[in-house]
Amino acid sequence: MKEYERTGVISIEEIRVPSEEQLKRGVAITECIQEIPCNPCVDACPVNAISMEDINSPPFVDYDRCTGCAQCAAVCPGLAIFVVKLEDESALITLPYEFLPLPEKGEEVEALDREGRGVGKAIVRRVVKKKDNTALVTVSVDRKLAMDVRNIRVLR
Ligand code: SF4
Ligand code: SF4
Repeated sequence: MKEYERTGVISIEEIRVPSEEQLKRGVAITECIQEIPCNPCVDACPVNAISMEDINSPPFVDYDRCTGCAQCAAVCPGLAIFVVKLEDESALITLPYEFLPLPEKGEEVEALDREGRGVGKAIVRRVVKKKDNTALVTVSVDRKLAMDVRNIRVLR
């Protein structure tokens, strides 16, 4: 049995972590490892950076081709795609968010890890909600939390 099947939470060892250089450019990280028939992320990518061996395979992102546009994250029904971009002292994380109320730009929220534990504060930098797509919220967090923060809690 795989680790995530036992715990219900994907672990960092089960994710392909991009290099520091790739993270500085900003790339999509697919935390999708279950073999299910699904591929909207492949079709959404404007630069063909996502591939699959077959419809049941986990997606593979070419981190050198990915531009970090987040179009794949907006259509992923599994809420399993995150765009991470490293800055000098912080990391920008774009994550899918389906709760209400939506946070607002400039708002301070709680940063949560994959298990929903609070790991620090995050500042909302951008909120994008397009018709029929999941909202995408971009937050800035401490740089060392780039590969940990995968959700937020609105504090109002
Ligand atoms: S972030 Fe944009 S360029 Fe990168 S894989 Fe997703 S859709 Fe493609
Ligand atoms: S759209 Fe999301 S759930 Fe479906 S294969 Fe792509 S990453 Fe996985």
